[in-house]
Amino acid sequence: MGIFNRGTADQLWQRYVLALGILVVLLVGGHMLHLRVLQDGANDAETIDLSGRQRMLSQRIAGLAQTLKEPSENLNYEAALLDALQVFEASHADLLARSEDFPSAKAVYAVGEDWGLDAQVQAFVRDVHNAASYPAAAPEQLVLLHRIEVAAFKPLLSNLDKAVKAFAYDAEHRLEGLERMQLLALLLALGLLVLEGAFIFYPAHRSVVLALKAAQERFVQLERRNDDLQKMSERLEYSAHHDQLTGLANRKKLHSELHHRLKQNGQTGQQLCVMHVDLDRFKEINDTLGHGVGDIVLMRAAESMKSRTRKGDLVARVGGDEFVIAVSVSAGPGAKEQATRIAESIIARIREPMLIEGNECTVGASIGFVLVSSDDQDSDRLIADADIALYEAKGKGRGVAVAFEPKMRNGIERRYALIGDLERAIENNEFVPFFQPKVAFSNGRVQGLEVLSRWQHAKRGLLLPGDFIDLAEETGLIDRIDWQVALAGLDALVDFRAQGFDVPTLAVNASAASLRNGDYVADMKLAVAMRGLAPQDVRIEVVESTLISGENDRALSALKDFAASGFKIDIDDFGTGYASLSMLSRLHLSGLKIDRELVSGLERSKPMQIIEAIVGLAKGMNLEVIAEGVESPKQFAALQAAGCDTAQGFGIGHPMSAKDTKLWFESYSSQPNKVTGLKVVG
Ligand code: C2E
Ligand code: CA
Ligand code: CA
Repeated sequence: MGIFNRGTADQLWQRYVLALGILVVLLVGGHMLHLRVLQDGANDAETIDLSGRQRMLSQRIAGLAQTLKEPSENLNYEAALLDALQVFEASHADLLARSEDFPSAKAVYAVGEDWGLDAQVQAFVRDVHNAASYPAAAPEQLVLLHRIEVAAFKPLLSNLDKAVKAFAYDAEHRLEGLERMQLLALLLALGLLVLEGAFIFYPAHRSVVLALKAAQERFVQLERRNDDLQKMSERLEYSAHHDQLTGLANRKKLHSELHHRLKQNGQTGQQLCVMHVDLDRFKEINDTLGHGVGDIVLMRAAESMKSRTRKGDLVARVGGDEFVIAVSVSAGPGAKEQATRIAESIIARIREPMLIEGNECTVGASIGFVLVSSDDQDSDRLIADADIALYEAKGKGRGVAVAFEPKMRNGIERRYALIGDLERAIENNEFVPFFQPKVAFSNGRVQGLEVLSRWQHAKRGLLLPGDFIDLAEETGLIDRIDWQVALAGLDALVDFRAQGFDVPTLAVNASAASLRNGDYVADMKLAVAMRGLAPQDVRIEVVESTLISGENDRALSALKDFAASGFKIDIDDFGTGYASLSMLSRLHLSGLKIDRELVSGLERSKPMQIIEAIVGLAKGMNLEVIAEGVESPKQFAALQAAGCDTAQGFGIGHPMSAKDTKLWFESYSSQPNKVTGLKVVG
């Protein structure tokens, strides 16, 4: 940006042109006035000279005229007289013309007045001519000559004299006028210059000064902005390389740092070790106690890692609850042991209970690490190897540190392939609903169906939940699977009923992730209503372990919401978790599903007592008791005797596709069941 903007520059330029124009006009005017003075002066001098000469000429003519009386033999005075007279007359005409510019002289000439110089000159010339026309000394001539000498000449001469003076006077007068005009012009010029100074040059100067000042201010501003930008870019630079929450290096910085460290690895008797740290149960804390507490846990964990490493070591946060640490250990046979010690001390430090907002929180950590040989330069692969070791560590029950070994790679690769498959399967709607019937112990009537997911895998065929549910839970994909299966189940329920099958309820498995997803209850209500179903037609099955988190868990409020809306809620796999009885009593449950482990162990005595206790508890809370995994008539009889209400199991029916479920219905109502021994009528 220039000092002036376009408008200001144009204005200045116009002003300068105006000022210069005025100066030129003044100079030219002054010069012309001066020329005029010079010219007039010369002209006036000539006129004055001419009128002076006229005076002298009149004297000469008067003198020569007297010679007419006595002409000389050898000198022709008469010719000289007539010559002089001719000159005199011509000069007179000239002076008369010139007198037009000389008011005083013009008054002396007074053309047309018989007393004026003009009339006198004409009379004089006439007399001299007349006198010359008479013979010498003729009486008329003598009279004329006398008149010329005595009467006419003196007043003529005096008037000619006056004329000379009048010309001189007028000339001087005019000169004074011109001089005054010159002075005036000079004053005018000075005045104009002052005005130009005041109205053109000063404002122009001001605007230049202002423009310069503005430019200077803008420069200062620019400099300040430059400073700000500098600071901002430093901040950006910092935040581009650091994690906002913990202030640790982020993934980007980790990579550049690792790159650097890998080059120096093995140089000073030190060996680099890359650790991958993952917090155990962090997601649970985040979901149940909220992100605020989750953030604090992460910061504490970051502090723990820093406190257990040395200054030169690198600690980076690379994901939600994942960290990578690069530490130096002494190279040699003891390196692995030293690295394990460091990792274990980090785990121990993280595991120390902390008090956050009145809650005592304990979070664990698992670590996988890899010792880097000096020729290893691939940071991505090192981190991936540490990750594989971490996965092993988690498989070992968490809270441990595991060193990477190349043979670990195979298992992990299969797992990654499965995750990719899983995502694709959700996109392609590859999950299909299977249905398992539940019947009443009392009369064998169908109480409902439970919908269970199956993955129709393009290459591997029909996969059971055991093949993918854990992975789906770990990768946060489970709620999408839940939803696909639930919708397909509801559609099938409508279809079964439309074909005349009596299906009182459909039970849907809801993972903790689904319940914590804020829209789940509302979506479910809508899905039910849109199919013309009632909330009472749907039972929500929740595994007991979902309920152990705590009071302010979103899963709990979702369940309360479901119950309040008329849905039935069953606790699944009851007897395996540790849900508190007081919580169960506050949940408005409909039923308890006794875990099939207990049912399968029925032959032993202990489970029987447990089952009886559960039934007692359920009756006390007015809950329906559903027994899972009923395979044999013996089990059926025992559970019936224990007071269970509803039976589910391979003995009654396997989980089946919708088509097979219809076939099952037809055969179930046509012949007595092998396990229940009951024949259902109607
Ligand atoms: P679950 O909810 O306890 O479902 C009952 C499981 O026990 C089913 O296994 C069923 O096939 C099996 N089962 C039923 N009767 C018998 C029996 O007499 N003997 C034996 N040995 N097993 C029996 P499945 O279908 O493999 O499902 C396993 C678990 O996966 C389910 O346990 C449930 O927790 C979960 N799951 C299945 N589908 C879904 C789903 O769509 N969403 C969620 N969140 N979980 C699901
Ligand atoms: Ca279930
Ligand atoms: Ca179960």
